[in-house]
Amino acid sequence: MKTLGRIAEVRESIKEWKKQGLTVGLVPTMGYLHAGHKSLIDKAHEENDKVVVSIFVNPIQFGVNEDLDAYPRNLERDSKLCEDAGVDIIFHPLASEMYFKDFCTYTDMDSLTHNLCGMSRPSHFRGVCTVVNKLFNIVTPDKAYFGKKDAQQLAIIKRMVRDLNIDTEVIECPIVREQDGLALSSRNAYLSAEERKAALVLSKALAEGRKVFEGGEKNATVVLDTMKAIIEKEPLARIDYVKIVDSDTIEDVEAIDGKVLVAMAVFVGKTRLIDNISF
Ligand code: AMP
Repeated sequence: MKTLGRIAEVRESIKEWKKQGLTVGLVPTMGYLHAGHKSLIDKAHEENDKVVVSIFVNPIQFGVNEDLDAYPRNLERDSKLCEDAGVDIIFHPLASEMYFKDFCTYTDMDSLTHNLCGMSRPSHFRGVCTVVNKLFNIVTPDKAYFGKKDAQQLAIIKRMVRDLNIDTEVIECPIVREQDGLALSSRNAYLSAEERKAALVLSKALAEGRKVFEGGEKNATVVLDTMKAIIEKEPLARIDYVKIVDSDTIEDVEAIDGKVLVAMAVFVGKTRLIDNISF
C-alpha cells in the first residue's frame, strides 16, 4: 500500500493501472476510520481490481463555527486498517494541495441541498460536491462508494454524477451500527459515557417511527411527532431536525407513499449526530 499526498503521484499510479486494464474503486473519507468505512472499502475491494481511499478533512465543507480543527484524526490507525483491508493507495493530501490560495471554482447544486443538513449547514454541500468532484477528476474511479449514513449526501452525489455526466458509478452501502443500534460515526469519539447512552435516542426514535408506519400510519406528521417525543424525553438531546422527505428530491412529504427517507440530526451534548432510515 502506498500513501500519497500529491495529486500528480496518484494520477501516475492510476494511469499505470488503466494501461493494464485494471478497474479502480474509490472510497472518499475524512479519516478516523471505523467499521462503517471498512464496509465501503471491503465492497470496493470485492468489485474492483484496485482500491483508493482518500483521507481528507475537507475545510470547505465546514462552517465557521464547526469542528474543523477538533475533527478526530489518526493516520497511523487509519493506515493499519487500510493495509489490513487490502487498500492499494491512501490519498492523503494537504489542504494546500487540494486548494490553491486563489481557488474560486465550486460545484453547486440548486435543489436537494437546502433541506435537512443544508438548513443548519448552508455551505456544507457546496464543499462536499466540490471536493468529491475534484476527487473524481483526480482518481477517475470506475466506481465510488458512499454510505447511506449520509443519505442526503448520497442523493446529492448521485444527482451531481448524473447532471455532470461523470463517468463513475455511485455505489450505496448500508449503515453499519453498533450492537445497540448507534450508527458508527467518527464524531461518536466526542461523546462522554453518559452522552453515548443518550445517543441511543436517535436509533430508538427511528425504530419507533418505523413501527408506527408499519402499523398503517401514512401521515408524516403523526410519525414525526412520535419520534420527536422520544428524543425530547432525553435531557442531553436537542433536535436540529427530524423530517420525512422524498428519497430522491429531499423535499418534505405529508403523506408517506412511495420511497421516503426519515432523517434526523440531533445534538447530544455539543455533538451533532445524524441518522436515518428508509421506508
Ligand atoms: P466520513 O469519513 O464521515 O466523511 O464518511 C466517509 C464515508 O463513509 C461516507 O460515504 C459515509 O456515508 C460513510 N460512512 C460513515 N459512517 C458510516 C456507517 N456507520 N455505515 C456506513 N457508511 C458510513
